[in-house]
Amino acid sequence: MKRAVIGLTGGIASGKTTVANMLEEFGYYVLDSDKIAHQAMHDSKIKKQIDETFGDIAFDSKGEVDRKFLGSVVFKDPIQLAKLNSIIHPYVYHHLEHMIASRHNAIVFVDVPLLFEAKFTTLTDKNIVVYAPKEIQIQRLMDRNDFTEEQALERIEAQMPIDEKRDLADFVVDNSGRLMDTRKQLLHMLPHIAE
Ligand code: ATP
Repeated sequence: MKRAVIGLTGGIASGKTTVANMLEEFGYYVLDSDKIAHQAMHDSKIKKQIDETFGDIAFDSKGEVDRKFLGSVVFKDPIQLAKLNSIIHPYVYHHLEHMIASRHNAIVFVDVPLLFEAKFTTLTDKNIVVYAPKEIQIQRLMDRNDFTEEQALERIEAQMPIDEKRDLADFVVDNSGRLMDTRKQLLHMLPHIAE
């Protein structure tokens, strides 16, 4: 069987991690691009670029990147967000590429929130979008992150609209219902994923 690399994406708080956890429970290998992006913040070359771009203010007293501060800067300013992405995305892409190549699983899932926006689809054969309508994304962000409705909307609107992502998907998992329904959809979909 040909090996398949499957992208897993969706909108913020639509349920990517929830679905990734289910896939792991089923025994699949799932790469987490957010984890790699966090590691990137400790890489000396990346820290140098962040320093050159955002200055001292982006670091805490221990010399580590102050992610909370950077987050608050970039989510309000698309130009700053693009600058940060241009530093972080190549690192994440390179590491994912390497990790995919070093695995021998028949199917490798890669969880990439900005799969379409950052064009990481060049790494994947097919793509799954975990879908939940905007109202549910807002509710989950308010519950999980203690965001106000305004803060939730700000985060959602900084991304490609989830309906557009759904149109780009090879497979859609509707995670607007119960977890049990999501699990069922996955079990139906998985036999077809590498066809
Ligand atoms: P992010 O984009 O922030 O990384 P995500 O897409 O990975 O988020 P999750 O963290 O999986 O989303 O889910 C967002 C929140 O919604 C979590 O608190 C999770 O427990 C909850 N959640 C996910 N799916 C469901 C569901 N089907 N029913 C109820 N709550 C859910």
